[in-house]
Amino acid sequence: MRANKENNLCESPFAFWWSLHKMGGSTPQALLDRLHKWTEWEFNMLEFRDMATSDILVEFGKELFAHYGLIEHFNICEERLSNFLRLLSSQYNDENPYHTGLHAVDAAINVHYLLQSGFVRFFTKLDLLVLFVSALGHDTGHFALNNAFLLNSNHEVVQKHGSTSALEHFHLSKLMEVITDDKCRFVDALSPSDHAEFDILVGEMVLATDMSRHKEYMSKFEEWCTSAKSEFGGTDQVAATSSDGYFSWVEAKRSSLSYEERKLFMTVVVKFADLANVVKPVAQSEAWAELIMVEFSAQREREIALALPLTQPANIPNREWKVAKHQNGFLKFVVEPTMVLIMDLASKEKRDTVLSHAKNNGEIWSQRVIDLDPENASNVCRARFGC
Ligand SMILES: [Zn+2]
Repeated sequence: MRANKENNLCESPFAFWWSLHKMGGSTPQALLDRLHKWTEWEFNMLEFRDMATSDILVEFGKELFAHYGLIEHFNICEERLSNFLRLLSSQYNDENPYHTGLHAVDAAINVHYLLQSGFVRFFTKLDLLVLFVSALGHDTGHFALNNAFLLNSNHEVVQKHGSTSALEHFHLSKLMEVITDDKCRFVDALSPSDHAEFDILVGEMVLATDMSRHKEYMSKFEEWCTSAKSEFGGTDQVAATSSDGYFSWVEAKRSSLSYEERKLFMTVVVKFADLANVVKPVAQSEAWAELIMVEFSAQREREIALALPLTQPANIPNREWKVAKHQNGFLKFVVEPTMVLIMDLASKEKRDTVLSHAKNNGEIWSQRVIDLDPENASNVCRARFGC
């Protein structure tokens, strides 16, 4: 996993941005002032909505690359890295309610959180590079419509990329256009074998964000965990031999992880990052939920206008109840089981933090589903007579 120094075309590698970074020269002070909290689960990306996406994606991207020593390790040209991050941010549409550059940066910050919870020990430097590029680029060029709409409308993206994971193939092709842009080719610093592996892995990570394949990946990961635990002697022995009750079986397997296993772990990290806002502190989670529901509603309007099958809930009536129902179902049946499985490999402190928010949010959404149910007699009374 060494950098290929002969291939580094940058005149003054590492020096340009790093010197500015150290002095705080090019970094917006407002951003830096808030960065110190980014390792906390409570860190709220939505607080940065008042800033230009370009500033946010570029600054966070550089911080992450520097934090994990990727610039130094691969001898990456900072100017090209900056160009890459800037061009990538321009591919995200700030007019989208949910799928903006802010969501992409949020995903990268969530990758960082999971790495800090203990996952970093599973990965090579190349894996880390793949993880951050994939998180930042997994929704490149998103235009606020989902695969169901693309299929039902026989959209040009389906015609070009086929009917399987059409949107994700589109994101990947857009991301690769940015990566291979002449001014952005920071990956030229990688050795040919690392470069080839990088391309393959980024492709796999982005395509794995298709939610229709979520179960397939998580089942594989669950199988791996079950078998790793049983090889170690089963969960009873794990509990008896480890003070944390978890780490012994993980550590026993870590040194023997194959390429395929590492790839599976990386996929799981990207999935965690993409879904994590559902289990953030409830006010933050509600804000993200509101944004995705606005995006869904706008899609429904377009479905109506084009006489397509309706795939999204109506905006009104009973909007709040529908939002609560959607979030509750998504949390209970998709996100929480995913988080339970993944956080099994995390440190106790981080595991407790994430799972307690998942539990708390579940209770709040479930209660709202009951309280706002239009079939509930007292709600009917309130709606009709204001009582
Ligand atoms: Zn996403």
